[in-house]
Amino acid sequence: MNFEEERRRLVYLLKREGVIRSKDVEEAFLAIPREYFVPEHLRSYAYVDSPLPIGFGQTISAPHMVAIMTEELDVQPGDTILEVGTGSGYQAAILAYITSKGGGHVYTIEKIGALTKRAIQNIANALPNLLDFITFATGDGSKGLDIFAPFDKIIVTAAAPQIPEPLLKQLKPGGKLVIPVGSKWEQILQIVEKNAAGRIRIRNSVPCVFVPLIGEHGWRDEDLYIA
Ligand code: SAM
Repeated sequence: MNFEEERRRLVYLLKREGVIRSKDVEEAFLAIPREYFVPEHLRSYAYVDSPLPIGFGQTISAPHMVAIMTEELDVQPGDTILEVGTGSGYQAAILAYITSKGGGHVYTIEKIGALTKRAIQNIANALPNLLDFITFATGDGSKGLDIFAPFDKIIVTAAAPQIPEPLLKQLKPGGKLVIPVGSKWEQILQIVEKNAAGRIRIRNSVPCVFVPLIGEHGWRDEDLYIA
């Protein structure tokens, strides 16, 4: 299986669909090998444009959704970014690839400790130099990551019932937050901008389906197991 050729083909398709629009996002997609972020037995599906299971009932998002969110976030080299929902570490690697060009940094928080460990290992295997530009945390990211705030950009890769208040607080004036908001089954990707005066403006982007954000400012655990 020629992963590099498949990666180039996927990037070509995502560009043709207008999903990848910027040079920075294109370069990041070409540089980060998605096959390192999916379980061994699913590697042959790494360049199918679909989410894949990564264990613990969680998923690595579909490449088009990673591209849409990264473009909407308008990541610039040098940005300080918070990601909520590390999962496989793939989105964190994409973000770090772009922001590290300007000496920026990615803080990423995951609720499931075993996934944090695996994400670190995935990045160590794929592009170890990126580890200098990523700080990993395990905990409830619906509360943000106060000790490293404020952030230029915040990306939430799990579905929230509403925009968590702490994330709005931890966003810099002039900053941007991208988050799926809705029910546990379907959401709308919301783009939140905080202007220099601290005023918030929200725009709806595309419909999407994410696993739930579970935590104090997300869904509560007990909401999940009612079937
Ligand atoms: N960004 C990931 C990637 O590139 O593979 C995909 C994220 S996956 C769709 C959503 C992740 O959010 C899961 O790993 C889940 O455990 C995590 N999660 C859910 N609630 C969370 C919370 N309150 N804080 C941090 N992570 C959370």
